[in-house]
Amino acid sequence: MSKGDAEEVRKKAHERGLYPAPLNAGRSRNMQANRRKDTKPETVLRSALHRLGYRYRKDLLLRFSGQVRVRPDIVFTARKVAVFVDGCFWHVCPQHGRQPNTNEWYWTPKLRRNMERDVRANTALADAGWHVVRIWEHETLEDAVARVQAALPRSNTRSTLAKSHDKNH
Ligand SMILES: [Zn+2]
Repeated sequence: MSKGDAEEVRKKAHERGLYPAPLNAGRSRNMQANRRKDTKPETVLRSALHRLGYRYRKDLLLRFSGQVRVRPDIVFTARKVAVFVDGCFWHVCPQHGRQPNTNEWYWTPKLRRNMERDVRANTALADAGWHVVRIWEHETLEDAVARVQAALPRSNTRSTLAKSHDKNH
């Protein structure tokens, strides 16, 4: 598929109010393209982290001052790391999140509210000493795992991985 064709596909998907097609249709390890039916990108990332021996809470509701409530996709409570896997369309990814031309009366305010909520969540988490990792659904699973690992303190990472290693061999 040429670059022009891919852009046309994404444009049409936007107009229907659907997620855009991935930029590179040939990429196979993209979390969005690679997922099985009914498997969301955050589920794919959770499974990969779990296989590596990481333990976390999913969809844990965190409350902060100012009545800010945040529900990250993956939470490492003791290490204060919050991971979000953001859909390219709903969270307005710089690559795929171009706002739709039609239905703006509905989509534009909704998308803006999503972006504002993301900023509020990031600020509340950072103010409380949390490390925030935001992953786009178009990122490869390898990149997503690497970014989560980079956010986790090394000493804990090593012991967790060692446990996983023992179990598998
Ligand atoms: Zn994207």
